[in-house]
Amino acid sequence: MAAQRLDGKACAADVEAELIGRVETLKAKGIQPHLAVIIVGDDPASHVYVKSKVRTCERLGIRSTHLELPSDTAEAVLRDHILTMNEQEDLHGILVQSPLPSHMNEEELTDLINPRKDVDGFHPQNLGRLVQGRLDGMLPCTPSGVMRMLRWAGIELEGKRAVVLGRSRIVGMPAALLLGAKGADATVTVVHSRTEDIAKHCQEADILVAAVGRPEMVQPEWVKPGAVVVDVGINRVEDSSRERGWRLAGDVSPEVENVASWLSPVPGGVGPMTIAMLMENTVRAAEMLSE
Ligand code: NDP
Repeated sequence: MAAQRLDGKACAADVEAELIGRVETLKAKGIQPHLAVIIVGDDPASHVYVKSKVRTCERLGIRSTHLELPSDTAEAVLRDHILTMNEQEDLHGILVQSPLPSHMNEEELTDLINPRKDVDGFHPQNLGRLVQGRLDGMLPCTPSGVMRMLRWAGIELEGKRAVVLGRSRIVGMPAALLLGAKGADATVTVVHSRTEDIAKHCQEADILVAAVGRPEMVQPEWVKPGAVVVDVGINRVEDSSRERGWRLAGDVSPEVENVASWLSPVPGGVGPMTIAMLMENTVRAAEMLSE
């Protein structure tokens, strides 16, 4: 039987519907949530993501400021923008779109963002809180979107074996922490490029989260029958049958649909959830100010 679709678009729509009410409540107190998105350079995919974020803000009544800087911008200039935004009282969230040009140190720049405005959840203070099991702050958007989608679908995690493929600071590692946190209570294995016999680890997973950036790496025979598979990957692969010459592929082979009980699609799975969680973090940042 084909896997059920873990529909991130539908789940994100539910999150948005709830946020509209919270934005209204804030507006009644004279506060409009306000997100600043900074993009440096002309990476086409990044511009698509930023446009989508700005559009979602408009839909929810969140104010957005969109700052575009050329790719040869000096790091000091970006630093000054961040420090100015940190002080701006009517601005609640600051997001620096990744990737930055190679002459910039992304981690050091993230460190400069006021942790209360760090709506990406990448500041060491926010990641540190996550390690401590304090889940009430700014959580990284993609992993928290994965968790929200699993909860929304009624998928039981307690006592289950979860395997996370990938250990990045922004997806894999925080996803592993969230799956293993009190309240979620999965038992987690993290697999990375130095792991031996990756397929064997994956075959043991009740919940498999793939975040490796390798198109369709997870094959049907890697998946335990009935497992829940979340595909975080967004990869552009050549496809001459398409007019534009490429298509989007996840990190999971579509054939996994024949083995898994649930599978998130690409696109339409984790992607919309990431944006929904960014919106939630922005609203939360504004609420914290009003408390
Ligand atoms: P990174 O490149 O930062 O991390 C990839 C991770 O995968 C690393 O931990 C790496 O291991 C591991 N890895 C790479 N190749 C292999 C391999 N052959 N076998 C086992 N492990 C491997 O990527 P991100 O975490 O930023 O992103 C992962 C994917 O998720 C990408 O496709 C990205 O586009 C997508 N993404 C999607 C988002 C969404 O909204 N849906 C948001 C963010 C990312 P090691 O640490 O050993 O190098």
